[in-house]
Amino acid sequence: MKNVYTEKDIQDMLRAGTCLDTIPAGSVITPSAKDAISAAGKTLTTFGGNTAKSTSGTTNSNRFPPLPAGVPTVPPEPIVPSAEFHWETGKDPVTPEEIQRFFHSPAIQKLKEEMAHVAHKMWGRNMVDGNGGNITVRVGDNLVLCTPTLRSKGELQADEIALVNLDGIQKAGWRKRTSEANTHLAIMKLQPMAKSVIHGHPPYSTAFAVAGIEPPTCLCSEAEIFTGPVKLVPYQTPGSPENAAAVGAIGKDNPAILLANHGVMTWGNDVEDAYWKLENMETACQTIWVASQLNGGKLQTISHEKMQDIFEIRRSIGMTDPREGMKECELCQNDDFMPGALSPVANADNPTQLNPSAEILVKQLTDEIIAQRG
Ligand SMILES: [Zn+2]
Repeated sequence: MKNVYTEKDIQDMLRAGTCLDTIPAGSVITPSAKDAISAAGKTLTTFGGNTAKSTSGTTNSNRFPPLPAGVPTVPPEPIVPSAEFHWETGKDPVTPEEIQRFFHSPAIQKLKEEMAHVAHKMWGRNMVDGNGGNITVRVGDNLVLCTPTLRSKGELQADEIALVNLDGIQKAGWRKRTSEANTHLAIMKLQPMAKSVIHGHPPYSTAFAVAGIEPPTCLCSEAEIFTGPVKLVPYQTPGSPENAAAVGAIGKDNPAILLANHGVMTWGNDVEDAYWKLENMETACQTIWVASQLNGGKLQTISHEKMQDIFEIRRSIGMTDPREGMKECELCQNDDFMPGALSPVANADNPTQLNPSAEILVKQLTDEIIAQRG
């Protein structure tokens, strides 16, 4: 039986025409639920005073120890965690002093600490190597926090974070910004929902990027929900304007992408969200690789019908999916993924036959190796 009534519960009851007197004695009514009752023209006495206040007067009150100091007598309305930074449009700091004051403000300091924390998590999970990888967080119409160049993400400190504008010009910070920031900024310029972008070289997803293969889809439900299909950005020299343009074009619609022969990028509404997507993508690629070694490489896909539920979940968290509306045959196109090496050397004239001269050569080499060992 329910004993806590939230605003949503009250609204659902009112919508369904359920009498509020049916709320059992001793139930807790949250503050926003009380507001919903008042807004509907009802009063708390309508249902006999069964409000939060009544819990302290029930026979249960002596069964539990008293509340610690500062803990409210009514549970707060549950909230979803979010570290998304909201700035006032058109109010970016302009003068050098304004920029310095903004850059050293408590709100920005908190973001720098979160960025350093995520950098350490990336290094700890083998998602970066050497001084590789970088993190950005958008903090204004034209301002972005950015990790510095030539620093291990395992060592990075919050006060080393730099501030740049969307053209990559450094505005504050004593460490020089990373040259790879331009790819992050290319996504941010085209996609306002990308408030934080992360780049790393996690080995399994980077392996797909090096093989030039987009990970097969409809396999790992968690990744399907949070990253969606992972797209491959063709190779361009890291740091070049061509690379930034290629990343922006594909990254704006895809929060998890592979950079051919390089690494990966993810974006989200805050730095933790972007980092979670990095973990989701890497774990999915590792899982797919291990699964491909089982059962002769045959993988069991989520059905077309069940994928519609995944699209529904994605919509509920504000993410549409480019695959919505696709036919069954189009949805899970995994033809590029052929795990494992092919050892036979095919006959060029007839690929279904083995090449006889190659087979002779393999036999000669094998015999020679055995003879040398003997
Ligand atoms: Zn890189």
